[in-house]
Amino acid sequence: MSAAQKIKVGVVGLGSMGLGMALVLASKGFSVAAFDLSGAALAKAEDGGASITPSAADVFAVSDVVVLSLPAAQHVQAVMTEAQEAGHLAKGVPPKVVIDTSTSEVEVSRSLAARLDVTGHGFLDAPVSGGPSGAAAGTLATMVGGDETYFTMALPVLEAIAAKIIFVGPSGAGNVAKLVNNMLVASHMITTLEAVRLAEAAGVSAADALRVVNSATGRSAISEIHFPNWVLPRSFDSGFSAGLMRKDVRLARELAAQLGCEMPVADLVAEMWSEPRSELTDSDDFMLMGDPQAARFTTKETTNG
Ligand code: NAD
Repeated sequence: MSAAQKIKVGVVGLGSMGLGMALVLASKGFSVAAFDLSGAALAKAEDGGASITPSAADVFAVSDVVVLSLPAAQHVQAVMTEAQEAGHLAKGVPPKVVIDTSTSEVEVSRSLAARLDVTGHGFLDAPVSGGPSGAAAGTLATMVGGDETYFTMALPVLEAIAAKIIFVGPSGAGNVAKLVNNMLVASHMITTLEAVRLAEAAGVSAADALRVVNSATGRSAISEIHFPNWVLPRSFDSGFSAGLMRKDVRLARELAAQLGCEMPVADLVAEMWSEPRSELTDSDDFMLMGDPQAARFTTKETTNG
């Protein structure tokens, strides 16, 4: 066992992303304690070598580094409050570092980092990119905000779950970078759909048009990875929901509003991602937005399917 693997790791939130991270950590020799509200998720984590705890707070009790992978900031706040009230992040407890990989909110991360720092513990905002397949393979990209001392303490765990680790700056900087990234993802989904539609209307297949785009200057991860893997084969099962995409667009626009930063294209993109306009429910896979066969955003859009 390497020195790094002696770090006791916890994972709270075992959904599309967190389960993969927990299993990767266990497969790389870390001792992993895990918790989720879903019994099915707990069973999968246990099968993959994690030890299940009775509550989220108990994960903190037995871990040096805790990875959070929760839907949104309010879930992060709830879990952190539970752990603090149970005394697991009190002064005098050996230092722990929380790596919050959720796509969360800048102010929430900053206030949690400040609160933990007072009692000698670290909180890093470390949102991730790379989807469930990247989580399962340990090849995510993570963009980290926080104190560099805590970053160094957490590095062996970050290295186990991510192939690209970018330290962005002080607390909240990781969240800012992630929201900027995902605002582009939301936009690229719509612009790539329009590009494919135009190509098909003009007699060039979507596959041929994307072959060119992906060798030229119009490409993005959406055109290079998402459309070839989930739209053209019509599987629409990327594991990222339309509800989470909407959350990211909302958070990016809220941040822009707080800062007085005008984003007219983002305003239009948000309107297009809204449930009434896109006709996608929160639980639909976000790749359905790119379906060229749906009549979304056309005058025929009542036939959407
Ligand atoms: P998910 O909905 O699949 O998983 C979230 C998990 O958190 C669920 O299993 C849920 O039961 C659990 N949970 C909620 N509240 C809890 C609590 N109080 N205690 C313990 N468990 C709790 O979501 P996901 O797709 O895995 O995404 C997780 C985070 O990662 C989100 O913030 C998302 O925006 C971000 N993200 C997702 C992807 C993706 O492709 N799915 C990619 C990058 C980032």
